[in-house]
Amino acid sequence: MDKISLIIPCYNEEQALPFLYKEIKKVAAEMPGQEFEFIFINDGSRDRTLELVKELRLEDERVHYVSFSRNFGKEAGIYAGLKSATGDYIALIDADLQDPPSLLKEMYESLKSADYDCVATRRVDRKGEPPIRSFFAKQFYRIINKISDTEVVDGARDFRLMTRQMVDSILDMGEYNRFSKGIFGWVGFKTKWIAYENVERIAGQTKWSFFGLFLYSLEGIIAFSTRPLLIASVFGILFCFIAFLMISVIIAKTLLWGDPVAGYPSLICAIFFMGGLQLFCLGILGQYLSKTYLETKKRPIYIVKEKA
Ligand code: UDP
Ligand code: MG
Repeated sequence: MDKISLIIPCYNEEQALPFLYKEIKKVAAEMPGQEFEFIFINDGSRDRTLELVKELRLEDERVHYVSFSRNFGKEAGIYAGLKSATGDYIALIDADLQDPPSLLKEMYESLKSADYDCVATRRVDRKGEPPIRSFFAKQFYRIINKISDTEVVDGARDFRLMTRQMVDSILDMGEYNRFSKGIFGWVGFKTKWIAYENVERIAGQTKWSFFGLFLYSLEGIIAFSTRPLLIASVFGILFCFIAFLMISVIIAKTLLWGDPVAGYPSLICAIFFMGGLQLFCLGILGQYLSKTYLETKKRPIYIVKEKA
C-alpha cells in the first residue's frame, strides 16, 4: 500500500481550512487503496489556524502539524513539509482551495501508470487577477527563461505530486534562499503537466502584495541566474569603448579648430548618466553579495515551536 503525504502551508488560513479539510478528506475516501497523512505547516499564523489544526488532529490521526516560531514564508513551509513527510508520494497543496484536491487521484494514477517522477499543475489563465499583475508575471517568466538555464514554467503552481526520490533530491538542496519554482526545475526528473483554469481562493485573503511579488521575482532571478552580473560587465566594456571614441573625436576637434569651452550641459548629463549606471551595476553586484552573505551565515530555514 502506498502512502501519500499532503503538505499544506498555512498562514492565517482559519477561514479556508475547514473547506480544505473537507475536500482532502473526501479525496482520501475516494482512494481507499492508499494511506494518507496531512501535514499542516503553521507558518506563524496570528489567527486560529493552529487551534483548528489541533482540533482536526483530535478526531483524525492522519493530521500532523509543524508550527513555526514566527512567519518564515511559504518557501520555508514547503521545505519543512517535505522534510517531515514520510510518504512514498508527496504532494504540495495550498490551503485556499486554489489547487483542486480532486485532481490528486488523477495525478497519482499518472505517476503509477506511466514513467513519471512528478505530476505538476499549471493554470492556463489568470482569471480574477488584476491585469497589471498578469502582465508583470508574464514578463517575469519571459525574462527568467531567457537568462536562466533552469526552466520555470509560466503559470506553474506549487501544487504537485512527487515521488520520494524527487523529494529527497529537493531536500538535498539546502540553500537558504529558496525559490521552489526554480528548484523543482533544477532537480530535473520527468514531469507531467496538467493544466486547469484558475480558481479563486475560497475564503480569506492572498498574502501577496504587488511589491511582494516583484521582490520575489527578483529573488528568483538572482537564485537561478548569474546573467545580470554579466550584463553589468558588458555595460562597463561598452561604455569604455564609447568613451574612447568620444576622446578621439575631442582630440581631433581640438587639433583642428582650437579649444572653445562648450558642452557644459552635455557634460553634466554624461556625469549623471554614468553615475546612475555605475550605481545600477553596483546594485546588481550588491544583490548577489547579500544573497551570498545570507548563505554563508547558514541560518536555519525555519524554527519549529511545536509539532505533532
Ligand atoms: N503561505 C504561507 N506563508 C506565507 C504566505 C503564504 O504558508 O508567508 C501559504 C498560504 O497559507 C497558502 C499558500 O501559501 O496556503 C499560498 O498563499 P496565497 O494563497 O496567499 O498566495 P496566492 O495563491 O495568492 O499566490
Ligand atoms: Mg492562493
